[in-house]
Amino acid sequence: MTPDRGTRKRGLPIRRASRAGSRWALAVPSTGRHALRMESPAALEAQRTLESRVAAIDSRLDLFDEIARLKRERNAVILAHYYQEPDIQDIADFIGDSLQLSQEAKRTAADVIVFCGVHFMAETAKILNPEKKVVLPDLEAGCSLAEGCPADRFAAWRQRFPGAVAVSYINCSADVKALSDIICTSSNAEKIVRSIPADKTVLFAPDRNLGKWVEKRTGRDMKLWLGSCVVHETFSERKLVALVDAHPDAEVIAHPECEEPILRRAKFVGSTSALLGYVTKSPAKAFIVATEPGILHQMQKAAPEKTLIAAPPEGNCACNECPFMKRNSLEKVYLALRDLQPEITLDESVRVRALASVERMLSLS
Ligand code: SF4
Repeated sequence: MTPDRGTRKRGLPIRRASRAGSRWALAVPSTGRHALRMESPAALEAQRTLESRVAAIDSRLDLFDEIARLKRERNAVILAHYYQEPDIQDIADFIGDSLQLSQEAKRTAADVIVFCGVHFMAETAKILNPEKKVVLPDLEAGCSLAEGCPADRFAAWRQRFPGAVAVSYINCSADVKALSDIICTSSNAEKIVRSIPADKTVLFAPDRNLGKWVEKRTGRDMKLWLGSCVVHETFSERKLVALVDAHPDAEVIAHPECEEPILRRAKFVGSTSALLGYVTKSPAKAFIVATEPGILHQMQKAAPEKTLIAAPPEGNCACNECPFMKRNSLEKVYLALRDLQPEITLDESVRVRALASVERMLSLS
């Protein structure tokens, strides 16, 4: 499954090259992108600067060798989320979902953490490691859930429910974490909510789909923030049904950020790492996977004999791919290691309050 090293030279369309030799069964053409949010002038300027630094990289460099060399020199560790490009997953020291990455960020002895994921994840690494340098290859790698839950609106929402316990999904900013009582991930959301005394009102933010799924699993009535993931809400029930008809032996598995109609059709619902574990252990030979298709790279490595089919989005697009995760590239990882920027920095009082809510989660995980 690992693509030919020769196809991963800088300047080639890395993702396309990686997929060319893969066994992924993509149900949609890989064209199109989500419209990214409007950028501020400063963010646009930073983006232009980053793109010109990428363009200025010497085309004779072997990025794989350079990244390995810089990693040693900097005593750096590369942490990558399952939704990253296959090439980034292949150079990472550790690959995981949000919970595993935050646990690994807490454990690492490296001086520098190159976080190949999105902004809130790199912030979490910084919350746990104030003394380490944390760099994110592209600062614009955001998340629709985090961006849909600004701290001032979250604070106002909280105030409407005095005495309630605020559980925030890890996909939120450090500011929102600092305003929360406890953090959760999709791996432990059910356990975290079950740990809260039954007489307490639970506020759950910012993913309403995960919140509804946890309500169903726990029987708990929670107050939900109405946020969603632009990727996991894109799956089409109509096309999924057609796909199931075409592949009757394939099991549908889904991430709880998906909407209810998709989850209802799933044989198994779980976090990204739980989906990976399920594919590895299940006796089934084929799976329709309703989550970001970046995970298919590790699934195929772990179970090369199995057929994996990415669940289709409603539009004729690649909207099931996270446009934020895919902002990172091998070139940007190289630059982040070489220049030790863009760096994640946090206000110390926010970090300390956010740490308390993250630590509460980790102690229960
Ligand atoms: S897949 Fe969804 S939840 Fe994950 S980073 Fe992308 S937008 Fe955020």
